[in-house]
Amino acid sequence: MDTREAYLELGVNPSVSDSELKSVWRRLVAAWHPDRNTSSGASRRMQQINKAYQHIRQLRDGSNESADDDAQSGSKAEQPHASTAPEPDSRGNPHFIKVVLSLEEAILGCTRTLRGHLHQTCSACVGKGRRVFARACKTCRGSGAVRKAALFGWFWNEESCKDCGGDGRHHEACLACTGSGEKKLAYRRRVRFPAGLRAGHVLSVPAPREGEIEIDLELEVGIEPHPLFTLDSDGLLRCEMPVNGYAWMSGRWVEVPTPTGMQQMRLNRSALTYRLGGQGFPTSLRGTRGDYLVKVVPVFPQHSDPEQEALLDTLIARSSDAANADRSQPLGQWQRRLKRWNSKHRATE
Ligand SMILES: [Zn+2]
Ligand SMILES: [Zn+2]
Repeated sequence: MDTREAYLELGVNPSVSDSELKSVWRRLVAAWHPDRNTSSGASRRMQQINKAYQHIRQLRDGSNESADDDAQSGSKAEQPHASTAPEPDSRGNPHFIKVVLSLEEAILGCTRTLRGHLHQTCSACVGKGRRVFARACKTCRGSGAVRKAALFGWFWNEESCKDCGGDGRHHEACLACTGSGEKKLAYRRRVRFPAGLRAGHVLSVPAPREGEIEIDLELEVGIEPHPLFTLDSDGLLRCEMPVNGYAWMSGRWVEVPTPTGMQQMRLNRSALTYRLGGQGFPTSLRGTRGDYLVKVVPVFPQHSDPEQEALLDTLIARSSDAANADRSQPLGQWQRRLKRWNSKHRATE
């Protein structure tokens, strides 16, 4: 950074007083501190502001002659500097917005119209809110100080001129921004969000070639929590749903929710988790959809009415042989041994 750039960065004239320089620097720091300014370019701008301020401070703390030399050589040094390290973006830093999508929108992709306001540093005054002219300040006639009578006019006090801040130049509020240093601009942009965006992804939306505002948008994607589906960090979509315990035991069809609607699924009493291929979250941006895992929770009624009890009794009676059918089961083997032992024992009595 050369001296000219440093002054330009802070939006001040090289003739600015030390105190004015400091107050401009403080105001810029307050405006661009990343703690308060959430735009993505804030920390970079903050670095530039501090670099510029330090550069000028070092010059001023040294001799005045070296500062002038540096300022003059600045124009010479600019040419090679520009070719090796071009300015990142003449339009300024991109505007940062957080956009929250529903899970369905993230899975299928969507189009949204974004509207809002953004504050842009006024280009006419470089954010300073006023302009400093080369001609002398009328109030102090260019001296930067005004005389004030003190103690009943017995002697004079010199005071820094309030109209020019002591630099002796003519100051005027910037007409372009009415002195605020920034311009409030309304924007409206139609944005296509591709399928497969995850929370934390940043989408860059360059400014349209024709438009009232030439500003790039940077959209940080958030995904709304869903009442049914959860998205794992590895991109696997899951759902947990209660099913009728008897329907699960008997392998019936049930309807399960998917991001695109309800779908029939056959239960299986040996499985609690079901993988539905191609129904999940896209495996990559604009990619094919991955798997969707449905975990079923079989639910049995807490209390059965007499009719249900009777039905269950019948079911148990008719299926109790099934448990004993396997002769290799330890319980069956033990029961048969007990029976033989019992009969032998009674025989010897
Ligand atoms: Zn302005
Ligand atoms: Zn003045």
